[in-house]
Amino acid sequence: MKKLTIFALALLALLLIGRQVLVPKMVERGFTRMVTANVGVDRTADLADGLHIYMCGAGSPLADSKRSGPCIGVLAGKQAFIIDAGTNGSQNLGPMGFPTGRVEEIYLTHLHSDHLDGLGQMLLGTWINSRRSKPTKVSGPMGTAQVVEGFNMAYQIDSTYRTAHHGTKVANPASFGATAREINLSGGSQVVYNKNGVKITAFEVTHEPVSPAFGYRIDYKGRSIAISGDTAYDPNIAVASKDVDVLFHEALNMEMVKTMQMAAKANGAKGLEKILYDIQDYHTSPVDAAKTAKQAGATNLVLYHIVPMLPSDALIPMFVRGASDEFEGKITVSEDGTIVRLPVDSEAIIYEHGL
Ligand SMILES: [Zn+2]
Ligand SMILES: [Zn+2]
Repeated sequence: MKKLTIFALALLALLLIGRQVLVPKMVERGFTRMVTANVGVDRTADLADGLHIYMCGAGSPLADSKRSGPCIGVLAGKQAFIIDAGTNGSQNLGPMGFPTGRVEEIYLTHLHSDHLDGLGQMLLGTWINSRRSKPTKVSGPMGTAQVVEGFNMAYQIDSTYRTAHHGTKVANPASFGATAREINLSGGSQVVYNKNGVKITAFEVTHEPVSPAFGYRIDYKGRSIAISGDTAYDPNIAVASKDVDVLFHEALNMEMVKTMQMAAKANGAKGLEKILYDIQDYHTSPVDAAKTAKQAGATNLVLYHIVPMLPSDALIPMFVRGASDEFEGKITVSEDGTIVRLPVDSEAIIYEHGL
């Protein structure tokens, strides 16, 4: 009996030592292994040639623990682009393996704050340690120059600290900030980038009183996507998105927002009630987004700019109710970290999660 007690005590002591010494050691080793495999590694080096789409922000101005402000990274072969720079998008791109330092151009769909409030952080990502010799180009509708000038001014002081601390090779003053290009669409759509097999076409969408507001179509070696930007249901989007592999469309569930509006009313929150009423007329329901995907002949539909917030996946069936009656292809309610890969010389559409 005494022997058994000693054995039990020894075992307990071993377990305690294990917990206090061995477990932290294992965690430390795991951390070192993880950072060695990721920090400073070009995770695009072994990717198949194709279009790769990184959902860095699948949300809207409403707080959603799974969805940051609107932001989509696009890698076409070796060329990198960003469509919109909502809150936290820049922080998501790094862990997803997107080469922010190689971004050729940032495109804004429109100048609502939720699409550009992460631009300062995004421009730090495209500048620091980028070997860029010129500022990053930011293209968008009329007014983009004013927005860019404001961000340049706001971050100018910070840039001097970075250069002083890291040196001109890492923080080159010549490439700090951004230069703006304002796109003036003629005839509803226009090719705004055409280089090394990548064609980007801007097209007008309906987001009154925000005007102009754009969507973008991206074609690369036979693969294609379109990104709706913020828009009410607009048949022109189907025309601009003709036969794309994947249509990325914004989505707001009217019934769910109406329920929130009624709750605001019942709780006497008049201002909030008015906002929740107003936002219903310049967005698109998942059912109408599905109609657009069908009219376009798209293969897949990915919903983003999700309103309202969907903190639990259990809400997704309610959010997309009726959409699959309109569109036979795969419908995905995206979240931060969703990656879609379209390899060239293939019809494959590969979904991954990068966060
Ligand atoms: Zn928006
Ligand atoms: Zn908007």
